[in-house]
This record gives sequence, C-alpha cells and structure tokens, in this order.
Amino acid sequence: MSIDRVDVSITSPGRNFVTLKITTSDGLVGWGDATLNGRELSVASYLRDHVASTLVGRDEDRIEDTWQYLYRAPYWRRGPVTMAAIAAVDMALWDIKAKKAGVPLYQLLGGASRDALRVYVHASGADYASLKDAVSAYVDAGVTAVRVQTGIPGLGQIYGVASNKPGAKYDYEPAKRAADGSSAARPAEEAWDTRKYLAHMPGVFSRLREDFGTDLRILHDGHHRMSPIEAARFARDVEPYDLFWLEDCTPGEDQTALRTVRQYSTTPLAIGEVFNSIYDYQTLITERLIDYVRSAVTHTGGVTAMKKLLDFAAIYGIKSGMHGPTDISPVGMAAALHLGLALHNFGIQEYMPHNDATLDVFRTSYVYDRGFLHPGDAPGLGVELDESAADAFEYTKAYLPVNRLLDGTMHDW
Ligand SMILES: [Mg+2]
Repeated sequence: MSIDRVDVSITSPGRNFVTLKITTSDGLVGWGDATLNGRELSVASYLRDHVASTLVGRDEDRIEDTWQYLYRAPYWRRGPVTMAAIAAVDMALWDIKAKKAGVPLYQLLGGASRDALRVYVHASGADYASLKDAVSAYVDAGVTAVRVQTGIPGLGQIYGVASNKPGAKYDYEPAKRAADGSSAARPAEEAWDTRKYLAHMPGVFSRLREDFGTDLRILHDGHHRMSPIEAARFARDVEPYDLFWLEDCTPGEDQTALRTVRQYSTTPLAIGEVFNSIYDYQTLITERLIDYVRSAVTHTGGVTAMKKLLDFAAIYGIKSGMHGPTDISPVGMAAALHLGLALHNFGIQEYMPHNDATLDVFRTSYVYDRGFLHPGDAPGLGVELDESAADAFEYTKAYLPVNRLLDGTMHDW
C-alpha cells in the first residue's frame, strides 16, 4: 500500500479549522489537524502547494522516516507553519496505522498508563462575583482543576475573560470575526497595565482559597506579559495560594528569563503553547526551569515529535500540560488524549469544549466525564470529519486581538 491522495480542507463552524486527509491506495483514511489560529491559510497552502505531491506514492507505514523527510528535506526548519503542517501529516499517518491494527492509537504508544486524563477547564469573570459563580458551577459538576482569569479594575476586555452574560454557555473565542460574522479586516485592540494586574491578582487567588479550600487545583495564565523581574515578584506573591501552575509568565522567546522567576519562587511554572520544537525547551528542561510542557501536538510536529519532547522532559521530572482550547480541532485534541493516556509523565490536559456545530462536523469518540477525559476505544484517533457537514461552513478570516499598554505601546497579547 502507499499514500494515494492528500487533501486539505478548511471549515469554519464558529471558528476556523484546517484538516488534512490522507487516503491510502486501498482506501484507508487518516486525519490530521493543521489549525494555526489566525494564520490558517498559510498552513493550508504549505500542505497543498509544497507537501501533498511529495507524499503521494510513499509508504504510509514509515511514519518516522516521513517526519524526517518533511523536517530535514526542505532545508528551512521549524516555525509554526512548517511544524503545524508536519503535525497534520504525522497525526494522519498514526491514525492510519492504528486503524490498520484495529486498535485505538494509545495502544500503539505503549497502552494506557492511567484510567482517564484529569483536565482543567477555563473559568473567568469580569469581576470576582462572576468568577466565583463560574468556578462554583465547575466544582459542582465534578471538575477538580480550573484556570482562572478575571477582569482587572481600570482595564476593559482583556485576555481570557469571557464577555458573555452570566448563565450563558461559556464560549470565549479570542479570534474575532467582524460583528456581523463576516471576515475581520484587522485585529481588535485591547489595553493592558501590568502594575494594575500585579496589584489585583494575588487578592483574587486569596479569595478563591477562602471560598473553595485547598483541594481545588487553581491554574493561571500570564500570557507572556510580565518582564522577568515582574514575573518573579508575581510568582512569589501568589506562592501562599498554592497555584497548580503559573503559565506563560514571561515572553516565550527568552528561555533564560525563567531563571529569574525560579530564583525567587516555588510556584510551579508552565510554558510552551507558542513553541513548536523540542529545541525551544532545551534550556528550560535541562535546567529544570519549568514543571509542565504546554505545547500542542498540532503545533509541535505531531505525535512523533511530542512523544520525544515529553520523554526528554520525563528525565528531568517535568510533566505534560498539553494545549487544548478550541483552536485545537477535535482531531488534534484526540491526538493529545491518546498520547496523554499512554505517557507516564502526563500532568494535566487543558479542555475547552467545542461548540455543537464543530461536533457535528467532527464526529468524536472521546468521552468527558466529571473532570476527566478518555480518548475512547475506536480504532485510530477516533475522530472522523463529516466532509459534507464541513463544506457548509466557509472559511471566515478572524484575528487574535493585539494588546497595547495604556500609553499606546505595543505589548504582548
Ligand atoms: Mg495559555
């Protein structure tokens, strides 16, 4: 058998997803997620215009060799577009291999290391009262870990805070279309002030501990907005509230920034959703500057590359915390779940449920139950794209917001 067809589709059931379909000469189909939020067409082009023809005729069983072929052969390496494209091919080939074997993918990765995957969900509120309501609803539903983001007095809409009305279904989606649902012409702009944030947030964690006790795992995302010394102060200030992790506290490019944070605090650190290669972690892992790896299978070269990265992390006692909001398609989510179930050093899985339209387009077999996910036991990844349902949702350009300081200076979003 060999690879016979390579097709790329873009669907937009509320947000954009890029999906790769690989078909073998005897009709087996594998799916891969190639979604890069706000830059979807670039990955689609990379796959259609530069990768597809080179795969036709190759042995679909040679997953490692195909990974190396796509990584080394073009000379230009790494980068989010390239690595998302490689990830999609890799996922699709693992999907095919597991379907041929008639087993769920996790069985080919070593089998289950646990019964199910503990997830964390996103709770937010413009003020403390609404945040508390959101956290309470999750705790009542059996969730054991929540990422909390809240509005900061004196600032408007900021990252991570859903703007929907109390009681409405949580549907925070930062990549914005135009108000009428048509393509956005340019990104929305938000305003930021780190001093206000540093002054406000520790009190929020204090109140959460008073209201919810010590068992609840509380996570928080700094979204790359603090300088090393600001992050060190913040991590030290919140130490009494026992965060499960502080995520992305400093800009992602500077691995050595976290040395400063580590010097002053024992708050566990997580980083990596904007990384796309094992080399982005070389210093972070070997110097034990982080506790959790935040990369997505979708953005980091697929199951093959993520398994190597997380095996490397395991040597240093570092665990997985794979990226999993709605900019990961159900195909990418399934890949993370199979890998997470098989890894010994699984830590926690981010989970933000997709909307109903997305789950009509992508037929999933993973199962959520009271704070835990399981990939299911369908052969392969266990997700199938309904192509006619997907065709009903045309690509709609959407941008992540940009962020400025109060004096107008561009800042990290
Ligand atoms: Mg994050």
